[in-house]
Amino acid sequence: RKRRELSVADFVEGIVKGDVTVLSQAVTLVESVKPDHQVVAQEVIEKCLPYSGNSVRIGISGVPGAGKSTSIDVFGVYVLEKYGGKLAVLAIDPSSERSKGSILGDKTRMEQLSVHPKSFVRPSPSAGSLGGVARKTRETIVLCEAAGFDKIFVETVGVGQSETAVHSMVDFFLLIQLAGTGDELQGIKRGIMEMADGIVINKADGDNLERAKLAATQFRNALHLFPAPESGWKPQVLTYSGFYNLGVKEVWDMVYKYIDFVKENGYFEYRRNEQSKYWMYETINEQLRDSFYHNPQIQKMLEEKEGQVLQGNLTSFVAAKNLLDTYFDGLKS
Ligand code: GDP
Repeated sequence: RKRRELSVADFVEGIVKGDVTVLSQAVTLVESVKPDHQVVAQEVIEKCLPYSGNSVRIGISGVPGAGKSTSIDVFGVYVLEKYGGKLAVLAIDPSSERSKGSILGDKTRMEQLSVHPKSFVRPSPSAGSLGGVARKTRETIVLCEAAGFDKIFVETVGVGQSETAVHSMVDFFLLIQLAGTGDELQGIKRGIMEMADGIVINKADGDNLERAKLAATQFRNALHLFPAPESGWKPQVLTYSGFYNLGVKEVWDMVYKYIDFVKENGYFEYRRNEQSKYWMYETINEQLRDSFYHNPQIQKMLEEKEGQVLQGNLTSFVAAKNLLDTYFDGLKS
């Protein structure tokens, strides 16, 4: 038997009441590519907006194997115990479409949180471009906040562009690193380090402890060479062990110290406003691009124009102009 479809009002009511089943269904609509789902989703998001914003949003990044899921499980339980409230764990993994099935935010990787009554774990949306995936996660944050989740973790893999997307939707960006073979600083891009409000070296346990401490010193030295961040906060470097639950308190003392600091100096509000602006333009860009590439006339022409450019029969500029003219003329008629 087909379940009765929920109306926009049903969704909003359920979400605001904190009904996790309704929240899940709403997130599914947000992630859906069907136009009629998108219409409902956008209305629900708009109606939830006044109830959102009251949270601390933390981005958590690290290469595969850095210990993200182990750490998030332990971090999540820790902050819920210490600070109360409710925690949503979301993810941005633009590769998940190709790898079939997200490896981030996977419930089976977070044993405690997946069954915790105060947590909501949701894997990465899988459809579309990084921009699309990131926008959906950002919209899901709004829904979760409206449902009373006052702590939001957004997980991503530390390989590049997805960090920028996560950084643009969180209040604190936590970078999980590992002690390597002495050349740890080579492996990570300067740009990612520069985004971090805190760098934490995981697996500081057993034989690895000394190496982790050494790595921390190297990171601290490297950070000295970076320009001072806009927030006025000096990014900190700590060591911890997610697996053995060591140093977790210090990590979260740092995060909340930062939150207090930027709420005090006004940067918290400023950064959120800047992020809203950023997402306005991101959404415009993404939807224009989508509309262009999904246009049937453009799809027919695209290959031909590409061929002409490759053969040297047409300059790239003229080819692009032909395509754009066709697109905009089509909008007028
Ligand atoms: P992810 O890919 O970043 O999510 O990493 P996982 O959380 O799956 O961890 C990768 C591996 O590192 C697993 O085998 C974990 O058991 C191990 N691991 C995670 N945290 C620690 C830690 O603090 N210390 C040690 N020794 N191992 C850890």
